[in-house]
Amino acid sequence: MLTLVHYGELFLKGKNRRSFEEKLKGNISRAVGGSVKVLDGRMVVEGGSPELLRTVPGVAWFARAFVVHKDVDEICGAVLGLIEPKVSGGPSFGVFVKRADKMFRPGSMELAKTVGEKVVRQYGLSVNLKNPDLPIYIEIAERCYIHFERINGVGGLPVGSSGQVLCLLSGGIDSPVSAYSMMKRGCRVDFIHFHAFPSNEQIEGSKIIRLVESLNRFQCSSKLFVVPYFPFQLGLLTAGIGAGYEMVLFRRFMVRLSQMVAQERGHGALVTGDSLGQVASQTIENITAVYEVSRIPMLQPLISFNKTEIVELSKVIGAYETSIEPYKDCCSIIVAHPKTKAKPEVVRAIEKKLDIESVLEQTLARVTTLELGTGTDHGERKSSGSVS
Ligand code: ATP
Ligand code: MG
Repeated sequence: MLTLVHYGELFLKGKNRRSFEEKLKGNISRAVGGSVKVLDGRMVVEGGSPELLRTVPGVAWFARAFVVHKDVDEICGAVLGLIEPKVSGGPSFGVFVKRADKMFRPGSMELAKTVGEKVVRQYGLSVNLKNPDLPIYIEIAERCYIHFERINGVGGLPVGSSGQVLCLLSGGIDSPVSAYSMMKRGCRVDFIHFHAFPSNEQIEGSKIIRLVESLNRFQCSSKLFVVPYFPFQLGLLTAGIGAGYEMVLFRRFMVRLSQMVAQERGHGALVTGDSLGQVASQTIENITAVYEVSRIPMLQPLISFNKTEIVELSKVIGAYETSIEPYKDCCSIIVAHPKTKAKPEVVRAIEKKLDIESVLEQTLARVTTLELGTGTDHGERKSSGSVS
């Protein structure tokens, strides 16, 4: 028995398909282990932990499959033997044949009919092609694969095939889901988190690490850039700034600093968990005022999602329970009633007073980097005191 892996969208990639397949093959072998072979537009995995294929972006579906020779009698015999333990209670069945090897005879319909007739004769089951209790899948490629259950994967594209991005991770429900959404579209995602602890080391025991680790299931490993909030807070206090602009100022500051890290580390875009209108800081005016400081693309995969949709996805990816744990993040320290319509010219004037450039410099010098995850890093956790 082996595992048959099908990938959907790679077929759209034309000339680039080979390199996408190589990427997916590498990602599967890192996540699942065992041996992985690319065969006729599908992959075959022997050994390893196939259930982990559920978490590999690019995998449309997979199935535990039995292998037989490409011979009609052998195929019929194998199907009859394999379904024997499944026929009690008289399930309806359907035979579905796919031929990657178009030279194989008989054709798909004819083979399905031949196998179907044998099943009816031997077990007296009734045919239901629309919604059978017992689907029987036969794939004819370089060998013949027989399987009974397709397990859906994440779909999308293999991580690494669309470049790398930096996700502003808050510890709430939204940003982990937006990171996952980008992984699904083939991005390798690193994380940056602004914290309100007295020192960077205190992030170690926090839920932020657990959130990154749960997201790493989809890409094996990632970097977490840990950024202290206090230089910014000190700047605000020293300059005597208040009046409800702190949230927009802080978010512009986060974007600027994240951009500095991204440019040093080769991330092509920043990603946030913004969703329009969800909280006071997410009006069109505020998003405009925040994003105008960015010189690289700001991606907001959840911008049009409803909260219920985000929560649902958060549960599916296994982040929800961690996301709802209490956590004192920087935003909870900032005023309860931020301006909903921040005027960019007012914000720029305040930033001048704040000497934002010097706050950025002081903060950048305090960024530390954690390497988290398995795969190439094999659980190693490295910490370094500088982003470069
Ligand atoms: P989330 O559920 O992701 O916290 P939210 O609905 O609470 O989002 P905000 O707090 O306004 O919204 O944050 C919007 C986005 O800004 C977040 O999704 C995240 O990308 C980023 N962000 C907010 N706080 C932080 C932080 N402390 N560190 C890094 N990024 C942050
Ligand atoms: Mg938040």
